[in-house]
Formats: sequence, structure tokens, C-alpha cells
Amino acid sequence: MESWKRLLDGGVLSLVESCSHDAVYYGAVNVFLRDEPNPFGSVDVWICRKCRDLFCEDKRWGLTDLSPEVGFPKRDEGSKWGVLICLINNEVKWELVEAKPGKRFEHSCVDGKACPLLVNGDYSVSTTEAPSPNKHSLFVVDGYVNRSIVVK
Ligand SMILES: [Zn+2]
Ligand SMILES: [Zn+2]
Repeated sequence: MESWKRLLDGGVLSLVESCSHDAVYYGAVNVFLRDEPNPFGSVDVWICRKCRDLFCEDKRWGLTDLSPEVGFPKRDEGSKWGVLICLINNEVKWELVEAKPGKRFEHSCVDGKACPLLVNGDYSVSTTEAPSPNKHSLFVVDGYVNRSIVVK
């Protein structure tokens, strides 16, 4: 009863803004290298049953014991989770990033060099430095839940 009253008083918008997320497991995004049978990387994706917001868990962090209520990394308003692939001379690195058009972030390439990246309007990424031979691809998690990203 109490929660219904709050819903009516606060309106839907403020309910979403202050959502006390109720996340359930949604699926996984697997990153494969071409011709390799096992995933190179994997991200677990959770979805809030109330506001449909997504939460991601990079399996390398080993956070599998954390409950959805406490454990998920926070994300900026309006940004999406993305899997960034860094490919240089057949060496590959991937990381979970917050992607938002116009957002710049520091990235450290597979060869250890710092490489600032800019997220474009179409969620591709480009380097803000001089053109480099690095190849970066960004995959928005929303579109890859229970699908595979194949790095060529
Ligand atoms: Zn929520
Ligand atoms: Zn890189």
C-alpha cells in the first residue's frame, strides 16, 4: 500500500530517477577472436525489472558474489555500456567502458601506450591524437546481449 501511494505522489518520472533497482540476470556478451572456439572475454548483463536499465559485470573482476543491489559499477546519466576492442598487430585487448557521444576517455592500448579516445555520434571511436595504426572498435552492449562480438 505504501509503495502505491509513493508511486502516485511522485509520478512515474521521479520513480524512474530514484529507481531502487531490482536487477535480474539478462544475458551475456561474449567476445570471440576469429577461429578461436572459446570466448576471449565475457560480460554478464543484468536488467532492472522496473526501469529496464542495464548493468554490466566484467567477469575478469571476479565480482560474481556481489548482489545486484550493491555491486554494479555506476554509469553516467545518458551513457551506455560498451565493449571496447583494441587491436594492434594481432594483439587484442578489450575493456568495458561507458560510452556517450562526445565523451572522451583515457585508454591504454594493448601495447601499453596511452591513447585518448573520443566517442562519436554513432558510437564509433576515434583517437583525438594524430592518426595511429591502432584499430579500435566499440560495441554497444544493448545490441549484443546473448550475441557474440567477433574480433577479426
Ligand atoms: Zn531500475
Ligand atoms: Zn587501444
